[in-house]
Amino acid sequence: MGRLPDDCFALGDRLLSVEEAVAEFRSRLAGVADMETVPLAVAEDRFLAEDLVADRSVPPHANAAVDGYAVHFDDLSPGAPSTLPVTGRAAAGHPFAGPVLRGTAIRIFTGAPLPAGPDTVVMQEDCMVAGDRVILPPGLRRGAHVRQAGDDIRAGDTVLTAGRRLGPAEIGLAASLGRAALPVRRTLRVAVLSTGDELRDPGRPVAEGQIYDANRYLLTALLRQLGCDVADRGIVPDRADAMQSALAAAAAETDAIVTSGGVSVGDEDHVKAALEAAGGRLHHWRLAIKPGKPVALGQLGDAAFLGLPGNPVAAMVTFLLVARPLLLHLAGAEPLPLRRFPVAAGFAHGKKPGRREFLRAVLETDPSGALVASRHGREGAGMLSSLAGAEGLVELPEDVTAVAPGDPVAYIPLSALI
Ligand code: AMP
Ligand code: MG
Repeated sequence: MGRLPDDCFALGDRLLSVEEAVAEFRSRLAGVADMETVPLAVAEDRFLAEDLVADRSVPPHANAAVDGYAVHFDDLSPGAPSTLPVTGRAAAGHPFAGPVLRGTAIRIFTGAPLPAGPDTVVMQEDCMVAGDRVILPPGLRRGAHVRQAGDDIRAGDTVLTAGRRLGPAEIGLAASLGRAALPVRRTLRVAVLSTGDELRDPGRPVAEGQIYDANRYLLTALLRQLGCDVADRGIVPDRADAMQSALAAAAAETDAIVTSGGVSVGDEDHVKAALEAAGGRLHHWRLAIKPGKPVALGQLGDAAFLGLPGNPVAAMVTFLLVARPLLLHLAGAEPLPLRRFPVAAGFAHGKKPGRREFLRAVLETDPSGALVASRHGREGAGMLSSLAGAEGLVELPEDVTAVAPGDPVAYIPLSALI
């Protein structure tokens, strides 16, 4: 009997690219609509549910950008030092009350509101003090060292759009506008389960032929980093009825179900049958990527179904490239492009055309300072040790068949994905 071909064209299905699968899946499933309001202190990594529009300007008033003296520019002589009496003081939080009369200066500190009158601040390092007078150099620019009201943000500006993930800068920005809380999307609830009769939980004894379940812990950690609420659904044995009831129970309580294992070529009917028996549908099965060709994408009630391969490296890589963008879409995140950085290959590699391949890599710099990607760890979708310590993935396009040292390759840092 002839060996089955390694690719799946022979089975009649066209392999989908990651982008095609993600785009189509996105169009089928809407993100969570529910929102809640959370205080800034716990808003980190949540997704903004509405545009944030500034209802005030930042800074709210013109103010000094340096420590120095506030003056009327027109009081300065253009070609020679000017001497002005210092008639007051303004510090941050302590504005100078009155207007500043023509022909006078006031001492001013960074952040202090510019009082009525002066339009220019002279840096203290450029000035000389003589008793209660200050000697100012010539050659200054009108408006120097003044931050105008609204320089940063103008009232009415849309400063953040809905779907933005709230990071430190976004949270600081909201605080600068006086917002104590922000509307965010409800946290996505995701069920994680492992499939396989051979799997046992760490901490338990294993018998002959059994292995520890790595994926559930790996995937739980990845989901938490994405900001999901994880429901641990344990290990499900390789039986259609067990899978069906596990899926049905998970779908009733979560927005998405992430499974690993049981989606190898040949398992399609099994997963499909379990999903359909539970009332769901399988949309996609094979993707043109390595590692991780079989990835099952489907739906069960309102929950998305993401069936990842069992080999731990394939599970992690397909999570990052396929499940992650889909889950971000469900969580209400704005779509962001995945950035690739051009680096030189530090290795030789041959591959078959037709699938996009992702290699675990670390970066080094060559003597000229250019970045070179070297392969990390051993090849093979089961080599979880090769992902620990990897800094990124080298992406080799579908049509590439060989890479030689020095060839330009696309590099995706894992820090952009985790
Ligand atoms: P499968 O996709 O179920 O055919 O599994 C492919 C390979 O991955 C097999 O060697 C499984 O034993 C292994 N595997 C599946 N699930 C896990 C898991 N949760 N943790 C570690 N290895 C797994
Ligand atoms: Mg299995």
